[in-house]
Amino acid sequence: MLSLTDLRGQDVDPLSVLPRAELDVSSAVETVRPILDQVRDGGVQAVLDLGERFDGVRPPSLRVPAEALERALEQLDPTVRAALEESISRARRVHSAQMPEDSTVELGEGAVVVNRWVPVNRVGLYVPGGRAVYPSSVVMNVVPAQAAGVASLAVASPPQAEHGGLPHPVILAACALLGVDEVYAAGGAQAVAMFAYGVRDDDGTQVCAPVDLVTGPGNVYVAAAKRALLGTIGIDAEAGPTEIAVLADATADAAWVAADLISQAEHDPLAASVLITTSPELAADVVRQIEQQVPGAAQEERIRQALGGEQSGILVVSDLDTAITVADAYAAEHLEVHTENAAEVADRISNAGAVFVGGHSPVPLGDYSSGSNHVLPTGGSARFSSGLNTVTFLRLQQQIRYAETGLKELADNISALAHSEGLPAHGAAVRLRFS
Ligand code: NAD
Repeated sequence: MLSLTDLRGQDVDPLSVLPRAELDVSSAVETVRPILDQVRDGGVQAVLDLGERFDGVRPPSLRVPAEALERALEQLDPTVRAALEESISRARRVHSAQMPEDSTVELGEGAVVVNRWVPVNRVGLYVPGGRAVYPSSVVMNVVPAQAAGVASLAVASPPQAEHGGLPHPVILAACALLGVDEVYAAGGAQAVAMFAYGVRDDDGTQVCAPVDLVTGPGNVYVAAAKRALLGTIGIDAEAGPTEIAVLADATADAAWVAADLISQAEHDPLAASVLITTSPELAADVVRQIEQQVPGAAQEERIRQALGGEQSGILVVSDLDTAITVADAYAAEHLEVHTENAAEVADRISNAGAVFVGGHSPVPLGDYSSGSNHVLPTGGSARFSSGLNTVTFLRLQQQIRYAETGLKELADNISALAHSEGLPAHGAAVRLRFS
């Protein structure tokens, strides 16, 4: 099911054989453009029409009524409620700790610059609900936005035919638990367009006001809509199909490694599960474990497609340094480290959305309950971006507080630089104050 490439003793650049699917967001942008235009021009009715077309159900109303949120919370299984509350509490502690401090820097007499972190005013949070539903993604979106102090917060998730056109009840219950009352039954590109443009009813009543920033994971259509609307809105990183890479040596437990590779394959046929190991024995054991563990799994077909896809595979390399180089080049969304001295190895990793250190920190822990965020950069974008966090919802605004003395001291410098750029009016504007 999982292809195995043994590179020991071969003159092959391991980076050239790293498996990775090409997720064609650019061509999906062309697919979603008519959807975005339809929502911009058609408002609420267009979003409902598109729900009917792509989700197989026309929501009874675009905005989820308050009673439906209350009912979902009342009917929530107490065990799931307790688990969600624990996840929320841990995530709140971790995300509050990410809040940066403002700073005031005095550069001389009458010369002060203030670095001020200001929350985004209004955000749209996308919670996927196509193949699987993700109440955990409500927590992962809402908690950092609230920690940052965002004043206005809206959630969208696809309407579900089996729930009368509302988003999944556990998603609604999670919103209610977090105190979010603005929830829309909208999925895919139409949800992102609704957030970007805002939508009105036929009589002109604003049903969803435009937002400033859209965050959250989703499939290729969600990613394409975010890319196409960037500029009208801000976005977080594009979070595509999930990825797990495991960096392991001979000390790893093959059954645990196999189970973790399978767990991410359960998300999506396009999910990537990659093992990078120095041990051919472990590689063979993991293959055997996968063959034992997959048959009969609830999502067996999806798992088989994901593990059998070109994006998944096992690489056996000659030593730990090479394994670390390969893992770093891959820049996985999730990287598990199952080696001796796992913490030291983890510290050598630069590129990864999140690093799970040692056998008792598996990715499913981070998916739900660890307190860390599960909305992470995929497709190698961990090279230049972070997972969703409190700072995603903040902007650094600088206040320049110079008095006469501070400005006077710099007047000649400003004139000199302005002249060197051929912009003498800049210098003149400063000198005028002292003439
Ligand atoms: P989704 O909610 O992202 O997408 C469902 C929507 O896609 C539908 O509402 C529909 O409007 C739209 N759609 C479907 N087919 C379409 C078509 N042919 N043309 C236009 N629009 C279409 O749900 P999903 O599909 O289950 O995808 C969720 C993804 O999010 C998975 O890949 C999962 O791995 C990923 N995910 C990632 C993270 C992360 O942090 N990276 C976390 C959770 C989920």
